[in-house]
Amino acid sequence: MRRIASSCKSGMLGSKRLQKQCDVSQSLNITLSSHLNLEMNVVTPFDPWKGKFCTCPPKYSFSPYSGCSHKCLYCYATSYIKVPESRPKANLERRLMRDLIKINRELPISMSNSSDPYPPIEASLGLTRRCLELLLSRGLKVMIITKSNIVVRDADLISRGNCTVSFTITTLEDGLASIIETGAPKPRDRLKAIKCLSQMGVPCIIRVDPIVPGLNDDEKKLRRLIEEVVKCGVRHVSSSTYKVKPDNLARMIKAFPDKAKYWHELYYEEGFRHGSSRYLRDDVRLNLMKMVKEIADDFGVTFSTCREGFTHLTTSTTCDASHLIPLRIKVRGLR
Ligand code: SF4
Repeated sequence: MRRIASSCKSGMLGSKRLQKQCDVSQSLNITLSSHLNLEMNVVTPFDPWKGKFCTCPPKYSFSPYSGCSHKCLYCYATSYIKVPESRPKANLERRLMRDLIKINRELPISMSNSSDPYPPIEASLGLTRRCLELLLSRGLKVMIITKSNIVVRDADLISRGNCTVSFTITTLEDGLASIIETGAPKPRDRLKAIKCLSQMGVPCIIRVDPIVPGLNDDEKKLRRLIEEVVKCGVRHVSSSTYKVKPDNLARMIKAFPDKAKYWHELYYEEGFRHGSSRYLRDDVRLNLMKMVKEIADDFGVTFSTCREGFTHLTTSTTCDASHLIPLRIKVRGLR
């Protein structure tokens, strides 16, 4: 949170829109900071990698599961969560209720940032559903991020609550998706889920994240992808370039050995280190993000970058689309 504030002070985050977001961030930071010292358990302040490139407004993060069965090759979370499959967190509802008493109820809860809340096991366990019942019935704001069409099962809850759903789709090609997102549902199943939720009035967002050079950065294919999701009802496009960590690069190179030299040059010879990740050169990242923005513009939906710092490309009020959360239920007592 301090990083967001210092980024604002240093003027690193340019535009008027961003400045407005920073003002909001700074005022909410005060509230959020006052909660940082309270013992939290499963609901934690969102602050990924404490990086200067993250421009998210303050929010909380909550993951019903540890680890992720979707097994995306490019996953960043595997560098710090060494759990091979999605594992439900123990006593989750009790811990969630205990944490909810302490949080700032004005802030949204992002669910989830380090594991998908709808892994295959959720279809039988219903753990995420029970947590959603607790959160949405109390008027809390929830931002679901998933690659799974299992989320449609909970459309009854989601469409009545203060909730958005972001679907990550990196390609429409089943073959490529089955390699890079081995355990996740097919892209076309995610499209159907977007259509279903959108028709029920749920604000849907697409995350084209990550864009990997040489793999899914073809302009024509990205144009088709965005055209399809917009047809299904998506209202906002967020995108990000692939960030290399040693473990995710090793998996990617194992699957695409012919790209090893290319990615090594891009990330280790020309790129730079930021935190524990390696980034593409600024102009390479900027060109990729500009390309996606222009496609989003063409299809009449708003755009933002994620963890890139290119706030001048953002055409929405918030980079995480939290401005799309509908206020359908007034926040209620949590005890
Ligand atoms: S869905 Fe997200 S958390 Fe799960 S493996 Fe893929 S990138 Fe990692």
